[in-house]
Amino acid sequence: MQTMSIKQNIENINAQIKKTCNPWGRGPADINLVAVSKRQPQEKILEALDSGHRLFGENRVQEAYEHWEHLKPKYPDLKLHLIGPLQTNKIKEAIALFDCIETIDREKLARKLGAALQEQNKRLPCFIQVNTGEEAQKAGITPQDFAEFLKFCQQDCALDIQGLMCIPPVDDPAALHFALLQKMAHQHDLKNLSMGMSADYQHAIPLGATYIRVGTGIFGNRET
Ligand SMILES: *Cc1c(COP(=O)(O)O)cnc(C)c1O
Repeated sequence: MQTMSIKQNIENINAQIKKTCNPWGRGPADINLVAVSKRQPQEKILEALDSGHRLFGENRVQEAYEHWEHLKPKYPDLKLHLIGPLQTNKIKEAIALFDCIETIDREKLARKLGAALQEQNKRLPCFIQVNTGEEAQKAGITPQDFAEFLKFCQQDCALDIQGLMCIPPVDDPAALHFALLQKMAHQHDLKNLSMGMSADYQHAIPLGATYIRVGTGIFGNRET
């Protein structure tokens, strides 16, 4: 199956993004492709870098260090997004490596991250993760609690909230969740939407995605 090169896969997805944008009057330049490199071998990451790609996503802090710590100094224009849950005891490490935390999902994290950033006099773009499907096992703030949580993040924690992120339930049509996220962002004047993965990013683009997170579609199946 996996005969395409990483470079070719990225080119194909970028072409698909362009094609999907056209009928909706969206500009392809507004869609940022986050290459999700979790549980992928280092040689595939290097191949993506060789092809010129510079925006990557990881879901664990520890693994992100293994993948990126030595590469970051070599690629000054590299951008790393944290797309998985952040434990409060990993905040300092996360701040040092990531350019964006997409998974702000609870008060304790917001408070401690805000305090750590203030201490370092640093700004870090953040997204709030919304549990649009209200699934018990999934991280994220529920839509009901969102407005109050956003205010808390912005006013009490001084976090730079630039957008929203969601992972729809596997059994639901993803577009319903993308539409809800879009509506929430619009109501609160947030500019960015991180939504859509390999299987459903083409549904996220018409609904306003500005970041799509594609793993297997670029790198092939993950190592277990
Ligand atoms: C793994 C992961 C992705 C990528 O999923 P694919 O189906 O491989 O594209 C996207 N978003 C999050 C939060 C992930 O954990």
